[in-house]
Amino acid sequence: MSEVQAELRRQLEVQWAAYAATLAGKLDDIDQAAHSLREDAPADQVHQAAEAVRVMSHRLAGSGATFGYATLGQVARNLEILCDTILEDARRLSPEQRSDIEELLEKLRRAADVSPNPPLTATGQPPTQVHAPADGERERTVILVEDDESVAQQLECDLTSFGFQVCVLNHPTALRDAVAEMRPAAVILDIIFASGDWVGIDVVALLRGDGTLNCPVVFLSEREDLRARLASVRAGCDGYLVKPANIADVVDLLDRLTLGTDDEPFRVLVVDDDAEVVRHTELILRGAGMITATVDDPMKIVEPLEEFRPELILMDLHMPGCSGQELAAVIRQQASYATIPIVFLSEETNVQRQLQALQRGDDDFLSKSLNPEELILAVTVRARRFRYLRSMMMRDSLTGLLNHTNTKQQLEIEIDRARRANTPLAFIMVDIDHFKAVNDTYGHAAGDAVLKSLSRLMKERLRATDIVGRMGGEEFAAVLADTDAAGANRIFDELRRAFASMRHNSEGREFSVTMSCGVAQFPSYDDASRLSNAADKALYAAKHNGRDRVETAPADVENEPVA
Ligand code: GH3
Ligand code: MG
Ligand code: MG
Repeated sequence: MSEVQAELRRQLEVQWAAYAATLAGKLDDIDQAAHSLREDAPADQVHQAAEAVRVMSHRLAGSGATFGYATLGQVARNLEILCDTILEDARRLSPEQRSDIEELLEKLRRAADVSPNPPLTATGQPPTQVHAPADGERERTVILVEDDESVAQQLECDLTSFGFQVCVLNHPTALRDAVAEMRPAAVILDIIFASGDWVGIDVVALLRGDGTLNCPVVFLSEREDLRARLASVRAGCDGYLVKPANIADVVDLLDRLTLGTDDEPFRVLVVDDDAEVVRHTELILRGAGMITATVDDPMKIVEPLEEFRPELILMDLHMPGCSGQELAAVIRQQASYATIPIVFLSEETNVQRQLQALQRGDDDFLSKSLNPEELILAVTVRARRFRYLRSMMMRDSLTGLLNHTNTKQQLEIEIDRARRANTPLAFIMVDIDHFKAVNDTYGHAAGDAVLKSLSRLMKERLRATDIVGRMGGEEFAAVLADTDAAGANRIFDELRRAFASMRHNSEGREFSVTMSCGVAQFPSYDDASRLSNAADKALYAAKHNGRDRVETAPADVENEPVA
């Protein structure tokens, strides 16, 4: 057990002990309220008492489940359900109901004496970090199984230019050993081989079955029919591409399937009126490297929403003042939170009420008795999806690059930074050559695929910290911090070559495309508009001088730092 895990375990144990110490008092409170649930009491008094017992047993059901008192949680839930029926009746208490209550109260006492079994992971360990791997590096090895040598070669070449390491096998029988040895991020595999058998599908089904193959698998096939697609799904494939596949689609799919988490921890807001449950949930999420904020009064949610900017809200369904579903509806009325995932953490067993809550927003229910690992996983999956969607809004939908406005903003930020650090910065404008002819000859969809290919290529070849944007149409821009014009010229000349050697295809017709680039550097041009004007002029020169080349703006002597 690592030190962090041991510390988490210790803190969880402290919480469990504290909870155990308060249990007797909680049961006393329920007993006292239930005292008024008598057959001789008037209906409104019964109603009042039933409501009080219902709220307390609901909370006990939630915290009991959270802290490992499974039986106690269930009994409390039964008591809550009984109170529900009493409340629906709106009559005096029947003798059967009175004896049911007594029986449940007695069972509660007994269940509280049973030593708890706090929810650990399946292995009996507290949760480990399911979050970003420490080095943050994405595994980029792909195994390609393809017997057609020319297809294999082209795909290998294209994938390599997108930063993948490719291992080519010409028959699926070698797949088992290769997977064991290389632990690839994904496998791409041809379905139908020369013999006419569906060897590829059979081998995948086999390796999936015995647990050898657990990375994403993409099938590559000449067949587009449902029968082939069905067979591939049954064999356990994650993606299906029809030949000849566009490299942009292949990379898109691989990225989606192998998408690693970035290093930034997820931000989760925990809303629950039960302080014990809040602390417990917080401890687990923090143990997994997330950042948490808490709200124990639903009326005070506005401020943390704005200041903390959560990526997910974990919310109790029942709170005094307003219910979780009402609060969710209020949050969703604000445009900036319309898409934030809200997850109800609840012991709610009333299907009607679950449905009601789900109808109001795009939300989920999680049980309070989830073990820590399940909770972390459930939160991670939803927060990651939200982060992805939000990033899409800042970005150009076709290429996933920053849009014009955001690129210009980033340029300003980077110039300020370079000025403070006294380092150079390069700004590059890129324009595809004769792109109109590409559209005219091969169609708009083929043109779109070319735009995607180029944007992927730039993202893969440049550093993660470099900024790449689509300025509109077939025009792109990049900001390279701590890089001078000569360096940027070298980098983009290499990109230019890689792009020119890429083969695109449209309905069986192959073609290639070139691009021109203009480079300018800060501080030779010392603000955003001078810098982008200079890069624009250099790009124009590149077009004028014959295209498929990189030109650099002349150093503006006036602004050259004095040596
Ligand atoms: P040059 O080498 O001088 O840059 O020639 P060009 O044909 O690339 O330049 P021009 O500006 O004449 O044409 C740009 C073309 O880009 C015209 C437009 O239809 C196309 N285009 C702009 N946005 C998109 C897009 O999102 N998808 C596709 N497929 N084409 C686009
Ligand atoms: Mg152009
Ligand atoms: Mg243009």
